[in-house]
Amino acid sequence: MTLAADRTWLDWPFFEDRHRAFERDLEAWAAKTIADDHGADIDAECRSLVKALGAGGWLAHAVGGKAYGGAGDAIDTRALCIARETLARHSGLADFAFAMQGLGSGAIGLAGTDAQKRAYLPRVAKGEAIAAFALSEPGAGSDVAALECAASLEGDEYVLDGEKTWISNGGIADFYVVFARTAEAPGSRGISAFIVDAGAPGFTIAQRIEVIAPHPLARLAFKDCRIPRASLLGASGQGFKLAMQTLDIFRTSVAAAALGFARRALHEAMARATSREMFGETLADFQITQSKLAQMATGIDAAALLTYRAAWQRDQGRSVTREAAMAKMTATETAQQVIDSAVQMCGALGVVSGAPVERLYREIRALRIYEGATEVQGLIIAREMLKGSKA
Ligand SMILES: Cc1cc2nc3c(=O)[nH]c(=O)nc-3n(C[C@H](O)[C@H](O)[C@H](O)COP(=O)(O)OP(=O)(O)OC[C@H]3O[C@@H](n4cnc5c(N)ncnc54)[C@H](O)[C@@H]3O)c2cc1C
Repeated sequence: MTLAADRTWLDWPFFEDRHRAFERDLEAWAAKTIADDHGADIDAECRSLVKALGAGGWLAHAVGGKAYGGAGDAIDTRALCIARETLARHSGLADFAFAMQGLGSGAIGLAGTDAQKRAYLPRVAKGEAIAAFALSEPGAGSDVAALECAASLEGDEYVLDGEKTWISNGGIADFYVVFARTAEAPGSRGISAFIVDAGAPGFTIAQRIEVIAPHPLARLAFKDCRIPRASLLGASGQGFKLAMQTLDIFRTSVAAAALGFARRALHEAMARATSREMFGETLADFQITQSKLAQMATGIDAAALLTYRAAWQRDQGRSVTREAAMAKMTATETAQQVIDSAVQMCGALGVVSGAPVERLYREIRALRIYEGATEVQGLIIAREMLKGSKA
């Protein structure tokens, strides 16, 4: 059984021939290039994955704008999702390296000036610069409009003071898109976005954070951090909207990454169930196992249908707020259940450190929290449903 055995979902009407060709090429590249496991130096692994993904031409699919190194003028959400699903099936870290180049540079693609786009996007697409997206703070996670990091204009410079936490690629990024309060108005309306280079004076990595599935992650500190006025991204006071627009693109792709993890778990579970001998038969001969496998496969298909509906709908230029939230909520929660079932089917082998299903068990957990926890996705879906329905 090869890792890419089941490709029938690519026959669904959401996809075009170019998507099928893209998946085939990326799968072949990933099988040849990406190691199943990674070494202890996560920073080095991540840097080398970004370089390899750039050299392979794959990062161009995470960046919008042909003139700036992107594969198309707008990000093709279906290709973005296929890339994450395929990479996640091979390695959580490879998916992370790919996704963060897109999330970290997404706001520049959406709102950057021509000069800003030229300065950053081609390097991101080639894997020559590592990007990060710095929105969360210790006091502002789900309630992101409560953020306090402040930016004030002094002459030709903005001065940033405050901190950010849980920032992916923190410590290895070459630049950070930072959301800070410029105080035009309270709450979500007084937030602006800035591009902060890693070497900016007054910017430091305050703490490196270790998590259950190792990725570069850090708390950032800004103390009298001075950046040129031209680092403002988009209009002052429009940062919250820009952050949400960026997340709107990438939220569906989190669902796709969860799908990749779930498909890998099902693959591992099938391999174990059909080979493990017990009670004179194999594990797969028992009806309880068959029922479990059926639930896993059905959950994966349901999540995939929601994911690629959202991706297709976004590629038609339609709003996907409700659909992306449904996809993320369902795919991440389903993947968690599928992976847990795979661990159970593998018995003791499933909890051995470094075993494929043990790694997946750790990898999936954060996806139910970041880019909007499951509960927040539920709120978004209900808000969209109730819009205009109140008397
Ligand atoms: C591995 C990882 C990588 C990350 N990378 C980044 C990054 O690159 N950039 C960045 O800016 N941030 C990043 N984050 C931060 C992430 O976006 C936040 O963790 C997330 O928004 C949740 O915020 P919080 O952790 O402060 O949890 P809280 O806001 O304290 O929420 C805790 C829990 O409360 C529940 N909850 C939330 N709202 C409601 C509600 N309305 N009703 C009921 N229950 C609710 C949810 O279960 C939630 O998990 C990352 C986080 C992780 C774990």
